[in-house]
Amino acid sequence: MSHAWVRHKKVQWAVVELDHASTGYDLVGGDMPIKRRNGGLSDAPMLVPDRGDSARTGLKDAWVVVCGRDDPLWVNGLPLAATGIHVLNDRDEVLLNDRTRLYFSTERLARAEPFVAGEVETICPRCKKPIETGTLAVPCPGCDVWYHEDEGRPCWTYAATCVLCSRSTDMSAGYTWTPLAL
Ligand SMILES: [Zn+2]
Ligand SMILES: [Zn+2]
Repeated sequence: MSHAWVRHKKVQWAVVELDHASTGYDLVGGDMPIKRRNGGLSDAPMLVPDRGDSARTGLKDAWVVVCGRDDPLWVNGLPLAATGIHVLNDRDEVLLNDRTRLYFSTERLARAEPFVAGEVETICPRCKKPIETGTLAVPCPGCDVWYHEDEGRPCWTYAATCVLCSRSTDMSAGYTWTPLAL
């Protein structure tokens, strides 16, 4: 899931997971700079899920930042013109009027979820067997390939890394990219 790194009370970086089914988030600055929208109009700059883009490009988790009416906003150091929008890329920096900084990240964590089989059979790269609908499985955050991950067949965590992209399979590991790395 895409998420934003925000600095809570200007002290600690925190992750806000961005719910793509929501109507978006207002960027209000201050102590908790990002606030889930509850519909209605707003003059604040905001993050909005880009559903049109997902139909066109196949990206499931695209977001745009929309400039507010009065508040200047900078994306990667460049001012976003009034009424301007910008399709966010991984690790884009957004700077608000009050010098609140946030980072957009598309990095995902490995999570087991019930698998839904498509028309073409999905073969687990670890055990080479098909993954059936309803089985708990993990999509590799690095390469999107699915692995079994249920009690009888913990294929994802069977080895330390993904067979295909060498991503770590440690389910308790956090995000590999954080603003602290800057
Ligand atoms: Zn398997
Ligand atoms: Zn992988």
